[in-house]
Amino acid sequence: MLTNRQLFLRHLGQTSSAPMLLEIVRAEGVFMYGPAGEKYIDLISGVSVSNTGHSHKKVIEAVKTQVDSYMHLMVYGEIIQSPQVKYAEALAAILPNGLNSCYFVNSGSEAVEGALKLAKRFTGRSRIISFKNSYHGSTHGALSIQGSELYRNAFRPLLPDTFQIGFNDESSLSAIDSHTACVIIEPVQGEAGVIYPENDFLKKIRTRCSENGALLIFDEIQTGFGRTGFMFAMEQFGVVPDIILLAKALGGGMPLGAFISSAEIMSALVSNPQLGHITTFGGHPVCCAAGLASLNVIIEENLVGSCHEKSTLFKKLLIHPLIKEVRGEGLLLAVQLPDNEYVQFVISHAPDFGLILDYFLFCNDAFRIAPPLIISEEEIILACSKLGKLLDSAMENVKR
Ligand code: PLP
Repeated sequence: MLTNRQLFLRHLGQTSSAPMLLEIVRAEGVFMYGPAGEKYIDLISGVSVSNTGHSHKKVIEAVKTQVDSYMHLMVYGEIIQSPQVKYAEALAAILPNGLNSCYFVNSGSEAVEGALKLAKRFTGRSRIISFKNSYHGSTHGALSIQGSELYRNAFRPLLPDTFQIGFNDESSLSAIDSHTACVIIEPVQGEAGVIYPENDFLKKIRTRCSENGALLIFDEIQTGFGRTGFMFAMEQFGVVPDIILLAKALGGGMPLGAFISSAEIMSALVSNPQLGHITTFGGHPVCCAAGLASLNVIIEENLVGSCHEKSTLFKKLLIHPLIKEVRGEGLLLAVQLPDNEYVQFVISHAPDFGLILDYFLFCNDAFRIAPPLIISEEEIILACSKLGKLLDSAMENVKR
């Protein structure tokens, strides 16, 4: 009989020649467990998804209750489903005033697609401006605006009239003009290796967009729901976009995405043509129920406020000769090592030390720390002591 590992390699489409190949049979809190009882601290959260940890009782309860009532009923936007309505209302309550009309989809990439189409419809323009080293997803539209030539080139032809300008490069903001439909930006770039905007960069983009009638889209798919120590990263920069994109932690561990705007902007999708953007499963009631339960946990357990102390503790403990810098705030951190060889060693050997770590797509000399926000002080101390031993091992074994 073939093992699960063999079946995984034989029957599942692969994304790289070196998958982690770690079998997990159970996950709870910040821990994941292997078939022989191996225990790993999850320092990634399924890439910023499991903000309330794995198997949170309240999220599971919400899922079970919803499954008992109904699952899929009808394509998005036709039937009133209380999990969608309640979640959209709760999101409007924590977002700035103009962001109160929510279109639920299934994933981050789909939220990006919907928002780009909305911006084109609302402005009657086609030009889309995004940023170098940005990541917005893998579908064709999202790939067209991705800030990496390596990935874009492999799949041309892509969407026309898309331009990437430098993040934090003020001189390139003149590209935003009366032809621009929208500017899409991660308020804090994630896959670039946790890069923050400087010198009021977001404010300057906001001004330029407003002056030119272009919509500003914030992709908070990775930074949303407390990850950077604010419910949404944009709050620390005092800038409100015309459209915000959410996914990942939005579903509390279930697949869910959303693009959220004002009712006025959103109404552009209602006519000419009708049904211009539709989805079968977007806003699945079970996913919305899970997401709302998870948001309530984030609020009730003050996971946003406590994120700062946890971040400070990580930074205090992550002192090692190999660590050049720990970049970022909250629980989205980039640990900068001397080079990619060290990063590869550290990530690939992390499971041997009881840790799960991951790469950034566009920053090959740093690794990511983004644990569930529920991680406790004791668990941070334990994780950092394991990381210290892992880094010692890298120092001994990586040949220079
Ligand atoms: N936008 C950002 C900032 C992301 O980090 C990601 C995923 O990593 C996406 C969009 C795409 O989301 P999804 O993988 O759900 O399509």
